[in-house]
Amino acid sequence: MTESTPIDTGSSATGAGALLSILRDGRPRTRAELAQLTGWARSTLSLRLDALLNQRWVVPTDGAISSGGRPATTFAFNQSARIVLAADLGVTHARLAVTDLATMVLAERSAELPIDRGPVHVLTWLVGTFHELLAECGRDAGDVCGIGVGLPGPVEHDTGKPVNPPIMPGWDRFAVPEWLGERLGAPVLVDNDVNIMALGEYWAVRSQVEHMIFVKIGTGVGCGIISEGRLHRGAQGAAGDIGHIRVPSFEDVTCRCGNTGCLEAVAGGGALAARLRAAGEDTSVSRDVVHLVRAGNIRAVQAVRQAGREIGTVLASVVNFFNPSLIVVGGDLAEAGEHLLAGIREVIYSRSLPLATQHLGILASELGDRAGVTGAAVMVIEQVLAPEAVDQAVMALSGG
Ligand SMILES: [Zn+2]
Repeated sequence: MTESTPIDTGSSATGAGALLSILRDGRPRTRAELAQLTGWARSTLSLRLDALLNQRWVVPTDGAISSGGRPATTFAFNQSARIVLAADLGVTHARLAVTDLATMVLAERSAELPIDRGPVHVLTWLVGTFHELLAECGRDAGDVCGIGVGLPGPVEHDTGKPVNPPIMPGWDRFAVPEWLGERLGAPVLVDNDVNIMALGEYWAVRSQVEHMIFVKIGTGVGCGIISEGRLHRGAQGAAGDIGHIRVPSFEDVTCRCGNTGCLEAVAGGGALAARLRAAGEDTSVSRDVVHLVRAGNIRAVQAVRQAGREIGTVLASVVNFFNPSLIVVGGDLAEAGEHLLAGIREVIYSRSLPLATQHLGILASELGDRAGVTGAAVMVIEQVLAPEAVDQAVMALSGG
């Protein structure tokens, strides 16, 4: 529930954004209910409601029965007013989706797409596939209100540029928002893949939790931080990069970042696949490890459980430092299920402070491989539907 905006006695439609925020919970309301909730005069309410109706942000719905038995018109948030293009680009594969304004997926596609092919190759595929998906769901490019993209490396939040990504040759400082914006004709927001997964999981299924860590365990390892209900990116957007924290007794293991003993080089899906391959198994990527675990391969089960313990060692410190009430585990390797979670839980519950673990939940991601595209869409929706942004859009289109 949004707090009510001070009454604006002028004829301005500014304040329409605050009205839309109220209706975004999905519940249709009558004029009388909206007047009561906002504290606005009827004339002010009508002006702002009309502005939202003109933009189709809000639509009249079937009337409720009023006390006199006559149906009163109700108004509801129109989640299909605009659409969002969402992309979750991983190290080896990509998932794209077209969603409505409530993150409902209208069309989606996933494909093998190595990020090291470089930005032009990857983003050209992105543009072509988005056009196919738009055609599939029968929507026009003019309906797109924004594009959200997650990348598997550090992203400078203000500019949306990847910065020194260790496994993304050619991507350093590449102007992703400008390149895509010119070709798709809508504003582009970029963040790292773990941040958007945290945002998606939080927004779609965990919004009652204020302090949450989302750990992605795929080829690499990283975490997204929700603090007081907001994504915490840190000063440059590098917060949560636990994959390159050193774990004890692995000084001989070299990481792709150039350091030794990094968590990712010890317990990431890429590391596990390489270690199992050296032991004679047919594994080249993290999903191969998951297949072995599901088939009951003892060597793979033990490797995944041990990886869970190594990740748990780093997370135990994170728990002491940050005191989350929930840790959500996602990414490819999370599909290995309880073996990974058991290893993580074992170490965190024995090493973290009792007060910090008293009510701590450690669970698998509910959104699974859709967490990324959901979060990429949320990132766009939260910006486009922010009250100030809606006010501006309304003013611009009414010529005010
Ligand atoms: Zn490293």
